[in-house]
Amino acid sequence: MSSSAAHVVVLGAGHAGGSLVALLRQYGFEGAITLVGDEPIAPYQRPPLSKAWLKGEADADSLALKPLEFYAENQIDFRPGVAAVKLKRADKVVELSDGSTLSYDILVIATGMRPNKLPVAGAELDGVLSLRTAADAEQLKAHLKPGAHLAIIGGGYIGLEVAASARALGAEATVIERESRILARSACEALSTFFADYHRARGVTFELGAGVDSLTGDGGKVTGVKLADGRTIPADVVLVGVGGKPNDELAADAGLETARGVVVDLEARTSDPAIFAIGDVSHRPMPHYDRMFGPESVPSALEQAKQAAAAITGRPAPTPEVPWNWSDQYDLKLQIAGLPFDADKILVRGDPATAKFAIFHLKGDLIQSVEAVNAPPEYMMGRQLIGNRKPVNLDKLADPSISMKEVAA
Ligand code: FAD
Repeated sequence: MSSSAAHVVVLGAGHAGGSLVALLRQYGFEGAITLVGDEPIAPYQRPPLSKAWLKGEADADSLALKPLEFYAENQIDFRPGVAAVKLKRADKVVELSDGSTLSYDILVIATGMRPNKLPVAGAELDGVLSLRTAADAEQLKAHLKPGAHLAIIGGGYIGLEVAASARALGAEATVIERESRILARSACEALSTFFADYHRARGVTFELGAGVDSLTGDGGKVTGVKLADGRTIPADVVLVGVGGKPNDELAADAGLETARGVVVDLEARTSDPAIFAIGDVSHRPMPHYDRMFGPESVPSALEQAKQAAAAITGRPAPTPEVPWNWSDQYDLKLQIAGLPFDADKILVRGDPATAKFAIFHLKGDLIQSVEAVNAPPEYMMGRQLIGNRKPVNLDKLADPSISMKEVAA
C-alpha cells in the first residue's frame, strides 16, 4: 500500500503519540492521520510536572509539544477527550468512548502508563493523589502551600522531585519508603545515600523500611499515613508514587503479545504487522544490552516514535540509541546513560561531598551505565563509551584530574 493512501490512527496523545504524528508529517507522510487522546488537551511534556512547572517556573503553554493549531495546520485530525475502548484487529477498527469507530490501515498504540494505586484502607480519601497528568499536577500544586505537610509514599525519582519542589514552595515533606533506601529499584546505594543526605539537609524527612498500614482521614479528607509500626505521619496531602502499569489492556484483549507492556521489535512493530506500540506502553528491545525492557522515559518514547515513523514512511531505521534519562532536584542535575544490567563493579569518580561526581557501573572494563550528578562530561563521554563498547582504563576513569576526553581517547 502506498503511504499516501494509508490512514494512520494513533491511540494516546502523549509524548510518544504527539511526537509520532509530527514526525510523520516531517518525513513527508501524506496519508490521513487521526490522533485520539483521552486527556482534554494537546500532547504535552510530563517531566516539568514534578519539577519546574510544579515550582511555578514554567507555564502551561510551555509544556505543550506543539501549539494546538499545529494539528489542524498539518491535517492531523486530533480528537481530545476521547478514549479508545476496543480494538478489533480482524476488521482493522477501533471503537471509541463517544460511540464512534475508526478504521485504520496502520494503528499506533501510544497509551502510556497509569500510576499504581495503594492497596490500603483510606486510599480513596480526598487529598490522596498520584501524579501522571497535568490535571493531577494542578491538584497537587494547589496543596503545596507554605507550612502544608506533604507525605510522599514511594522514594522514586518522581517522589523525590516533588519533595524538592515542595520544599522550594515552603511545604514540609516526608518520604515514606518500604525499602531500606530510596531509589532502591533504580539507583545504586551510593547514589541513594547521596540523594537522601541532600534532601535531609534541605528539610525532608525520610521514613525508610516503613510499610504503610492505612491512610487516616477525617470527614472524608486525608489526615495522615499510618505506618506498619503503629505510628502516624500527619499529612494534609499524600502523594502516592509507587510505580505504574502500562495501559496495555486494549492490546492484550485484542490478542497482541504483551509482557509488562506491548511487545515490539526494533521498528516498534507489535506481533501484528499493521500495529505499532511506542512509549511507556511498550516492552521493547534494548540492543546495547541484548534484552527487552520498558525504559519509561521521554528519550525512549522519542526514539520509538522515530522508529515507527521511519517504518511507516519507508525510511531506513534510525541507529539504536543508548538509553538516557535525567532528574532535577534542587540545584542537582542527575543525568543517567545506559542500564546497569550485568555490571560487576561500581566506580565513583569525584567526591559526592562536592555534589559533582559520577558513578560508573562496569562489566570488566566496559561501561554499562553512568549516573552523573552535575557532571556533564562524565555523562556525555560515558554515554559515548557505552555506545561504542570501548574498554576504558579504570585507573584513569577513577582519577578526576584526568579529563573524560583523555579517558575516552
Ligand atoms: P504519556 O505521555 O503518558 O501519554 C499517553 C497518553 O495516552 C496519555 O495522555 C493517556 O491519558 C492517553 N491514553 C491512555 N489510554 C488511552 C486510551 N484508551 N485512549 C486514548 N488515550 C489514552 N521521563 C524522563 O525521561 N525524564 C524525566 O525527568 C521524567 N519526569 C517525569 C515526571 C513525571 C511527573 C511523570 C509523570 C513522568 C516523567 N517522565 C520522565 C516519564 C515520561 O513523561 C514518560 O516516559 C513519557 O511521557 C512517555 O510518553 P508516552 O506517550 O508513552 O506516555
